[in-house]
Amino acid sequence: MKNIYDFVVIGAGISACTFASSLNKRFSDASILLVEHGRKIGGRATTRKSRKNKILEFDHGLPSITFSQYISQDIMTLILPLIDSKKLEDISNKILLMNKFGLLNSLSTNDKIYRSLPFMANFCESIINQSTNPKKINFLFQSLTKSIKRGNNLWKTQVNNEVFIESKNLILSSSLMAHPRSLEILNTTSLPLRDAFIPGQDQVVDALLRETSKLNYIKRKIYILHVSNLVLVQNFNNQYLQILFSNVIIDNLNFERIIFQRQSDGSIIILLHCSYVNKKPEINIDHIIKSLILLFMNYQIFLDLFLHAKLIDEMDWRASQPLNHLLPKELQWSSIGKIGFCGDWFDMGSFGAVETAMNSSIRLAKLLNWN
Ligand SMILES: Cc1cc2nc3c(=O)[nH]c(=O)nc-3n(C[C@H](O)[C@H](O)[C@H](O)COP(=O)(O)OP(=O)(O)OC[C@H]3O[C@@H](n4cnc5c(N)ncnc54)[C@H](O)[C@@H]3O)c2cc1C
Repeated sequence: MKNIYDFVVIGAGISACTFASSLNKRFSDASILLVEHGRKIGGRATTRKSRKNKILEFDHGLPSITFSQYISQDIMTLILPLIDSKKLEDISNKILLMNKFGLLNSLSTNDKIYRSLPFMANFCESIINQSTNPKKINFLFQSLTKSIKRGNNLWKTQVNNEVFIESKNLILSSSLMAHPRSLEILNTTSLPLRDAFIPGQDQVVDALLRETSKLNYIKRKIYILHVSNLVLVQNFNNQYLQILFSNVIIDNLNFERIIFQRQSDGSIIILLHCSYVNKKPEINIDHIIKSLILLFMNYQIFLDLFLHAKLIDEMDWRASQPLNHLLPKELQWSSIGKIGFCGDWFDMGSFGAVETAMNSSIRLAKLLNWN
């Protein structure tokens, strides 16, 4: 007999995993399939193993997770076991702020800033592991969805332009298939979500599509540098250090933050996050190193690292974080279309994007009745 899932979720990032885990706690028998384009769970909270040097492993997406002092009880319930078991480490004291004069100060904040251990990608796994009945949560990786159709009260999700997977409900954990950027990324001529409904058929979907067209994203480019000189890196006393740049530096150089991650062989990976809103600035690596040397001229240990650093990779995030026009939470579920939405593109009244994504997913799971 053909398998019909109760829920197909597009994506396997923090939103999808929080949704799956929260729904599973409510309805432990509901079958869920997470369909993910990437090779593993995590989405933007991702960790990369270098292909050339297998020892190197580092977080090249979301660097840390910020929870505000107004964190919801539901999120607390999910993260407390992770804090207790040291899978989430409070890194507030491993974050410094560089002011416009190039001086480093400790960060003063009421927020809690965490890093998932051993890597950021493990955060999603830890969330899924907290489900009541994890056997009911299935994954399909390396599976891109470009087309979704609804007929005879069932959703049909097409995967890799081939198979159709059937489900009673469909959840989009990413804005991609509802946002204009999908035209270029998925190489389509119309939005997959628009194609699934005739205009006027579903008011929630119509309103959601109107709203997403106004949503813009912060883009980020990450430069990945490696310092392999083991004698030199001995003088650097940190296993992990994140330095946030002040607004003046962000405005002038597009440098947002720089992160130092110690590797298992003692060497150091340096990740420079450059953020921009519109056009990507053309900056080459020589210019970057010169600018870093100027910025850090008061700190010899950093100068030594930059002088010996080699660029090993670059990563473009064309939609790293929503910037404006978050969607109202009333648009999270359509009972007519049996389609739901969650992620950091909803306005949940919370502060950080991850907290927003998790709140929206927990809220959606609470809204639903699956049978
Ligand atoms: C470099 C970087 C820095 C960041 N810094 C911060 C920060 O400082 N503070 C902060 O709060 N947030 C930050 N963010 C944002 C944060 O990472 C996100 O808010 C969070 O990870 C959202 O998770 P998500 O599950 O909603 O989305 P995602 O992680 O994007 O997950 C969506 C998943 O869906 C998959 N998918 C989408 N469409 C399809 C499709 N059609 N078929 C198959 N799969 C599909 C994608 O592959 C992806 O894995 C940063 C992000 C990046 C990349």
